Amino acid sequence: MPTANQTLRRIPSVNQILCGPGVDSLLEQYPRHLVVEEVRNALDRLRVSIRRSGDPDRALASGLADLAPELGRSLRNRLRPSLRPVINATGIILHTNLGRAPLNEGTAKVMKSLSQGYSNLEFDLDQGKRGHRDRHLDEQFRRLLPCEAATAVNNNAAALYLVLSTLARGKKVLVSRGELVEIGGSFRVPSILEQSGATLKEVGTTNRTRIEDYREALDGETALILRVHPSNFRVVGFSRRPDLSELVALSRDAGIPLLKDAGSGYLFRTSHACLRTEPTVEEILKAGVDLVCFSGDKLLGGPQAGIVLGKRPLIEAVRKNPLARVCRLDKATFAGLQRTLSLYEQGTYLERLPVYRMLGATGASLQNRARRIRRGLDPGAYRSRILDGFSLTGGGSAPEETVPTTLLALRSTACSCNELSRRLRRGSRPVVARIENDWVILDLRTMLPEEDEALVRSLSQAASGD
Ligand SMILES: *Cc1c(COP(=O)(O)O)cnc(C)c1O
Repeated sequence: MPTANQTLRRIPSVNQILCGPGVDSLLEQYPRHLVVEEVRNALDRLRVSIRRSGDPDRALASGLADLAPELGRSLRNRLRPSLRPVINATGIILHTNLGRAPLNEGTAKVMKSLSQGYSNLEFDLDQGKRGHRDRHLDEQFRRLLPCEAATAVNNNAAALYLVLSTLARGKKVLVSRGELVEIGGSFRVPSILEQSGATLKEVGTTNRTRIEDYREALDGETALILRVHPSNFRVVGFSRRPDLSELVALSRDAGIPLLKDAGSGYLFRTSHACLRTEPTVEEILKAGVDLVCFSGDKLLGGPQAGIVLGKRPLIEAVRKNPLARVCRLDKATFAGLQRTLSLYEQGTYLERLPVYRMLGATGASLQNRARRIRRGLDPGAYRSRILDGFSLTGGGSAPEETVPTTLLALRSTACSCNELSRRLRRGSRPVVARIENDWVILDLRTMLPEEDEALVRSLSQAASGD
């Protein structure tokens, strides 16, 4: 048998490989310098496997035979966009790390088609002159909700920041100590306030704030009262804060505007039990707040945005703030929001928006899907069980409420749970799952039904280790 060193000397040169079969065609598809780099990487790997092999010649022959397809794979991987669709098996419907609300199909279509050409984004077609981009949402929100005007920016953090900077720069904002929360991803109410140039005036204590505390804190420097949805967190036990209606009465009395950060954009009351403690935007506006802000991509079910509704003079002041330009929305998002809102206007949003379809999916339909997916699995590769479990809404809404769900629990016959979940994440259609009691757990509620076939393919790829 030849020694490894003798075999290593017989490895072809980079140039010889570039002219070889299969590799020449890669040069037509990819830039030469990338192909050369990948050939060098592949040869480095080949040298390692020859040195480690008990049969160096065989290692060389099989390495060279696999070379062209391996180069094709690594070049494809290299140029593949890093941002890709994934299957959300986590059971968290509004998962911020996974892009929050999936869009309804029609919404995604109008966003695409509007982006492909020109539009009347800021052009009044009747008058033939410049218009304002907010116009497209203003009318729709006024038809849907008891508000005088609407504006939309890039996300809810920007909306809050913009309102604070417009109405309270250099002045005081009253906030209950129980609402000085961190929402995640370094969004902290006190920091946003500070950055906006407003001064925070803390009111009450962490667990108890009374309306008198607000009244006593009011002074000539006060520009705004802010009420924040505590989002992902609850104070339980000996706790209290004033009703929104009490704050509205106080703010009218004092002539100081009241802003509510509602967070999730839950527009109207539904029959979903898990959302029973979540205030709706409609209820908040009916209570008489001056402004309310919320995200577009949480329970509203649309694209990422921050929306502010309320009194017209205040909204107009917000629009005129030069910072509005810094966080303004693009045309595709306006189109997506309009389309999402039209589903509310038509009364079809509960059936058409994926977030509400997921919330409303019945146990029987989830179990049927779980059984069908399970039948698609190779019984030699997987052990599987169907279990009951609980999903979460996520996105800061209804933190302690859960939704009963169906889980598909999997174990690979060939590898550990950690390895299986790693392979699932790294597949061509990544699946993000969780591990519990040594099973990989897939929650049927958060996986889109139209992705079930892709899921079965991802599972069979993960089983074979590709
Ligand atoms: C989610 C949330 C925010 C931040 O909204 P983004 O759209 O992520 O910027 C702000 N306030 C509350 C109460 C929230 O729930």
